[in-house]
Amino acid sequence: TNSVFTGLPTTVFETMSRLAVQHGAINLGQGFPDVDGPEDVRAQASAALMAGPNQYPPMLGLAELRQAVAETNRRFYGLDIDWQREVLVTSGATEAIADCLLALIEPGDEVILIEPLYDCYLPMVERAGGTPVRVRVTPPEWALDLDAFAAAITPRTKAILINNPMNPAAKVFCDEELAGIARLCVEHDLYAICDEVYEHLVFDGARHRPLMTFPGMRERTARIGSAGKTFSLTGWKVGYITAAPGLLDPIAKAHQFVTFTTAPNLQKAVAYGLAKGDVYFDTLASDLAAKRDRLSDGLARLGFAVLPCAGTYFITCDAAGLMPGLGDVEICSRLTVEAGVTAVPVSAFYGSDAPHSFIRFCFCKKDEVLDEAIARLERWI
Ligand code: PMP
Ligand code: GLN
Repeated sequence: TNSVFTGLPTTVFETMSRLAVQHGAINLGQGFPDVDGPEDVRAQASAALMAGPNQYPPMLGLAELRQAVAETNRRFYGLDIDWQREVLVTSGATEAIADCLLALIEPGDEVILIEPLYDCYLPMVERAGGTPVRVRVTPPEWALDLDAFAAAITPRTKAILINNPMNPAAKVFCDEELAGIARLCVEHDLYAICDEVYEHLVFDGARHRPLMTFPGMRERTARIGSAGKTFSLTGWKVGYITAAPGLLDPIAKAHQFVTFTTAPNLQKAVAYGLAKGDVYFDTLASDLAAKRDRLSDGLARLGFAVLPCAGTYFITCDAAGLMPGLGDVEICSRLTVEAGVTAVPVSAFYGSDAPHSFIRFCFCKKDEVLDEAIARLERWI
């Protein structure tokens, strides 16, 4: 059959995780913590599972989770959200992205994406009938050229899909960039689909600023979050969308035919988690920042050209100095097979013309695991 998905490779995360298992490598590829999230949050899920009900929750999500999402929007960003009309619970951010694209994109519409991009964006935009238009940011700064962004807009542009903090670049968009993007969205009447799954994983005293909070964006933005990242429970696949009623309505229509709903006990536990005090959120970020430093210091000592990381689970680096002439896919496969450490090739985050030798390491792992990864790399080099 001939579909957008025919001939697509299996996602790099699955491929590299399988390769890591096969070779007994330390898996710093796919982004997931190696410890489970807070015990009290898991206890809530477990208790709710036994107490029930375990039948279909409301299509928009449990009231308590939608209230909690609205409340965290107020608490962290000063956004005034009507939980009944402006919050939708999804089965992970991935479903949320699909719902937004299915609801808002018509065949022939153009969608602007910032490259490098999370790997599901291109196929999902295309499957929704849209035409992806890529605007590139380049290392080491990954700065957005607002003129290039403006030049990518045409009369057919319907939406932008932007990931901030950004995987794999580990970039947090600065206020000037966000203000510039917002101005262009308003000027050209574009929707903004904002994948903000790493909103609470921002380091060094920086603060996440949702694009939704910029002038003119409140009515045209669908803001996506994920409990997977916020509570280090990536297997739960609980996501949420915040959007004005006119936008959320069609998105909820897409959701009702994609998954309809999400496990009720997990929704309950996430509602509980979102109400945690500031200490939880501050500690999440500071613990991760320490791991970032541990891994990036180790890699830099070994000669990797490590790029700055302001947020997310990831650091990227250029391995050209260590393995001259090799492409990123070969570098990652050799590191897995020969050194016993798995990273992912950054070319997986490009539609074409990727940089040659950039690889991404995930640092949300136990300190001893990070140390062992560095030790293995050192022995191999
Ligand atoms: N967006 C980005 C940028 C991601 O890195 C991920 C990875 N987990 C997701 C979305 C998917 O989130 P979820 O697991 O909640 O579907
Ligand atoms: N978001 C994760 C990453 O970037 C992977 C999620 C997945 O495997 N689909 O590593």
